[in-house]
Amino acid sequence: MLYNLLMGSNFEYFDICIIGGSIAGNYLCYLLANTNLKISIIEEHQQIGLPFQCAGIVSQKLAKITQIPKEIILNRVKIAKIISPSGKLIKLSGDEHPFIIDRVGLDKYFYDKIKDNPNIVYFLGEKFKTFKYINKSSKKHIVIETSKRVIKAKMLIGCDGPLSLVGKHLDIQNEILYAMQIRVKGKFDENEAVLYFNQKWKELFGWIVPEGNKVYRVGLATSPPIKRKLIYFLKEIGVKFEQKIDQQGGMIPFGLMNKLAFNNILLLGDAAGQVKATTGGGIIMLLTAAKLASNCIKLCFKENDFSKSFIKKKYEKPCQFSIGKELKTHYLIRLILERFSDKDFETFFKVIKTHHIENLISIYGDMDFPTKMLIEIIKNPMVLKFLFQFVIKNPFILFKALRLLK
Ligand SMILES: Cc1cc2nc3c(=O)[nH]c(=O)nc-3n(C[C@H](O)[C@H](O)[C@H](O)COP(=O)(O)OP(=O)(O)OC[C@H]3O[C@@H](n4cnc5c(N)ncnc54)[C@H](O)[C@@H]3O)c2cc1C
Repeated sequence: MLYNLLMGSNFEYFDICIIGGSIAGNYLCYLLANTNLKISIIEEHQQIGLPFQCAGIVSQKLAKITQIPKEIILNRVKIAKIISPSGKLIKLSGDEHPFIIDRVGLDKYFYDKIKDNPNIVYFLGEKFKTFKYINKSSKKHIVIETSKRVIKAKMLIGCDGPLSLVGKHLDIQNEILYAMQIRVKGKFDENEAVLYFNQKWKELFGWIVPEGNKVYRVGLATSPPIKRKLIYFLKEIGVKFEQKIDQQGGMIPFGLMNKLAFNNILLLGDAAGQVKATTGGGIIMLLTAAKLASNCIKLCFKENDFSKSFIKKKYEKPCQFSIGKELKTHYLIRLILERFSDKDFETFFKVIKTHHIENLISIYGDMDFPTKMLIEIIKNPMVLKFLFQFVIKNPFILFKALRLLK
């Protein structure tokens, strides 16, 4: 079909076509709304924000990056508890006090701000299918085919999530973890977020996140079979699956940030692998990257340069410098945690508790940018000894770390 349409002239013209109307696509579009650029957003769902697929725990940086209304913040947690496979506990409290957000509300907030802008058009309930480059007066354009129309644009932005089809066309594919969550009324502590580590779900963890009003988001992210593992986890913490108010599911990209820059195209958010491998959290990373993406896009139009090298210089490199390095640290921590045996967890928890490392983590801990904290805790000789012994048993980690540092 695309070939036939390329031969005709049945295009709708936009400067930019964004695929995906979730948080990355909406926020980027919001940042570009003060330009005169004509922007289309293709979103396969009929309603923005739905289906809801998030635990909604986000650091206070959210309020620093962008102004959000009070109603988006449902709760704040003062304590993070980390539970080892045998039930030992590390308690972290500091100034972080992350927000528990109304994630659907956040997606809708940016959408509501821009939906009536005459330069911005949302095509809801419409699926992106493919794209092709065409050369016009030696400047590359992109022709984008959706389930309902053909769009000609100067730039295509892939904000289409973990299984990004835009990325797939560019040979980018994310490694994926699966997540399942239920909302329940429960008798947990409204001030605490609790993370449960266990070999059965070693790729990430189980969580209890207090939404407020005695409602808790209880979930698990790991490899399949996800439902069976979730039911096991719920049993461990005394919750019955049937108690659920509702349930959510989704995918989480796992690994390092992808290549972001291509001729006339850039990737943002989960599509770009801008997700913390320690927690699966992507919101702060993608909002930070969206600001860099928006600057880059404005420059592309100003300089009339849509080349891969220009986008790499103005977007990919700044992303690597700001969030990329931290995402590498998250990935390294994740590789270590994934290889922890139950015994390693016990020894590690003992080292943390007996040498007051909890205080150090509480002081230097940063949910999003952990490098500084890691350097501080490695300075402790007992942590260093533990890590040294761990690396001797798992030399692969050392090779990985050296490759990441390159
Ligand atoms: C269960 C779960 C819990 C999470 N908890 C947290 C948390 O507590 N804190 C945190 O920071 N992060 C969390 N995350 C991660 C966070 O939700 C993501 O990082 C974030 O949603 C990524 O936003 P995005 O816009 O890049 O992609 P997505 O939110 O995945 O949105 C992609 C959009 O693209 C659309 N789309 C996809 N393909 C097409 C197509 N072909 N055509 C048209 N539209 C298309 C989709 O419909 C979707 O709307 C969680 C994720 C899951 C699954």
